[in-house]
Amino acid sequence: MVKVLLTGGSGFIAAHIVDILLQHGFDTVVTVRSEEKGKQILEAHPNTPKEKLSYVIVTDVAKDGAFDEKKQAVKSNPPFDYVLHTASPFHFNVQDPVKDFLDPAIKGTTGILKAIKAYAPSVKRVVITSSFAAIVNGKQHPKVYSEKEWNPVTWEEAMDHSQVYRASKTFAEKAAWDFVEKEKPNFDIATINPPLVFGPVVHYLNTLESVNTSNQRFRNLIQGEMKEKIAPTGNFLWVDVRDVALAHVRAIEVPEAGGERFFVTAGFFSNKKIADIIREARPELESKLPPVNAPDDFPANIFEYDNNKSQRVLGLEYRPFKQTVIDTVDALLAVGA
Ligand code: NDP
Repeated sequence: MVKVLLTGGSGFIAAHIVDILLQHGFDTVVTVRSEEKGKQILEAHPNTPKEKLSYVIVTDVAKDGAFDEKKQAVKSNPPFDYVLHTASPFHFNVQDPVKDFLDPAIKGTTGILKAIKAYAPSVKRVVITSSFAAIVNGKQHPKVYSEKEWNPVTWEEAMDHSQVYRASKTFAEKAAWDFVEKEKPNFDIATINPPLVFGPVVHYLNTLESVNTSNQRFRNLIQGEMKEKIAPTGNFLWVDVRDVALAHVRAIEVPEAGGERFFVTAGFFSNKKIADIIREARPELESKLPPVNAPDDFPANIFEYDNNKSQRVLGLEYRPFKQTVIDTVDALLAVGA
């Protein structure tokens, strides 16, 4: 049996990773912040035996020793073969940039790597959910974005509330690569760097109020919040959550994925394009949507992207935008939109 520890098991992306890990036969242990969330995950998988799926509590990844021996999170019997680290804050409610974002992202990442090195020598690879946020250079876009690019954000710039999420992902990923270089642990790492992740939310963890950050534009669109004015798209790259989840699992299954960053993106979109697909596929929502002739803010000149490596090494085949939009809307309607 091959055993995987998945941090942040209650998250939007992690919920899909759990399903793929189980489908691919991995024994899966998730970390969650409360008993309640752990129980919700188990109850949603009633036919899965407890040796196949269980949870451990890690209340705050930013705390020193959150994963250490005493807490037992990285220790297991039989021991773990792989770790997938997804837990990191993603929201726009910034009070304190360091406490709310930088600490949990950076210390969460270095903390789990240290704990694995110290207490879990059986782990062969750690896959870390990084982000396009760690790639993008908002000041000067390159002609083509690929895994070679790094966000040049500084610590000082990270104190700006509008930059801190992106900075948190950049510094956390850098800290992970630095750890491997300096500490030379038994394991290697791979990072998954998605842009905006869209797709169905799982019913057992979601209400409309708690819908994850990247899907909020869908909720707002179908609840009429963009009826008068369509919100700026912001970031024009997207990917489906099921493809991101599969990328994480492939990154432990494919030996060549070790030591690599993967820019996983399906392509470009705009809020107007989402609205157009909803109008066509779910005409009953027409009265909530922005007018058919609302402006599309998709730029005439935009950078290019190179997602070749994710397809070549991980074998990803990206879902088309239309399917993702329809599946996302239907999942939100199912939780009450
Ligand atoms: P969610 O908010 O749904 O998931 C975040 C997860 O991290 C939750 O399980 C959350 O627990 C957990 N978490 C957050 N802070 C802490 C903490 N201090 N201690 C312990 N656990 C914590 O977001 P996503 O699923 O979208 O994000 C998952 C990962 O993917 C993150 O690393 C994010 O940066 C990355 N990502 C997401 C993108 C997107 O568009 N969605 C794009 C690129 C990267 P709880 O639910 O209990 O708060």
